[in-house]
Amino acid sequence: MKIYIDGKFYDQADAKISVFDHGLLYGDGVFEGIRAYNGRVFLCDEHLDRLADSAKAILLKLPIPMAEIKEAMLETCRQNNIRDGYIRLVITRGVGNLGLSPDKCPKATVFIIADSIQLYPEKFYEEGLRVVTVPSQRIPPSALSPSVKSLNYLNNIMAKIECQQANAQEAIMLNHEGYVAECSGDNVFTVKKGVISTPPIWAGALGGLTRKAVLELAKQTGREVRETMMTRYDLWVADEVFLTGTAAEVVPVVDIDGRIVGAGKPGPVTGDLMRRFRELTRLAGVAISH
Ligand code: PMP
Repeated sequence: MKIYIDGKFYDQADAKISVFDHGLLYGDGVFEGIRAYNGRVFLCDEHLDRLADSAKAILLKLPIPMAEIKEAMLETCRQNNIRDGYIRLVITRGVGNLGLSPDKCPKATVFIIADSIQLYPEKFYEEGLRVVTVPSQRIPPSALSPSVKSLNYLNNIMAKIECQQANAQEAIMLNHEGYVAECSGDNVFTVKKGVISTPPIWAGALGGLTRKAVLELAKQTGREVRETMMTRYDLWVADEVFLTGTAAEVVPVVDIDGRIVGAGKPGPVTGDLMRRFRELTRLAGVAISH
């Protein structure tokens, strides 16, 4: 595997960054997880826009223009013969000293990994996931905006640990007021009497690009969609629940906190959106090859 770091490609064993990089010392940096399907980078510009916004929000100056970062990402895919895969694009604050001050980091570090994708096993798409509500609350947007896709994922990692201890595949994270925010690495949706709902960003959710694409697909099919505050009650009484994310795509949920969702198997609206989303991934995107 060839890994891009600051303009050069390295073998995996030699792809290293400094222990003084503030991305490592403080989680000071931003990233994107991006998918390639069928020789194209899916939602390429949308991911780069979100990355630019994350960087802007933390006053992280890009070391090279975004157009060059895009080209580096496409070249990383080419170097690794990626047609279908997962791209991790990371920009850290760069090398500084042991203090947390970013002004001691003169230049941001960019690295890009393009690898094959590890999906949930197929059985979860057919049978659905088990999820649990976890004790760790989502960091409130008033403290740190969840829209910043930063390298500091400890809040989400705590949630992941808690769900794994409960033998579940994903964690439902509530916000500080007890409303449903999102999952540790996915957005959450309900379907009730045909209406598709998801918590608003300001409930404490990342503005997921899969979430956005699914909302658009649902609207195109004439379904009513709502971005609305939800409590766990709304999950318990939903006809269907599903999660969305770049890695997970659209995945059904059949059990929440030991309660069976709907009929206990993936529902028809979820199935329809899974199919439509998969179709979309195969048609759209920026071509990797020249
Ligand atoms: N929420 C969180 C906390 C995430 O990390 C992710 C995935 N990176 C998502 C939601 C889903 O976002 P997207 O569809 O853009 O991958």
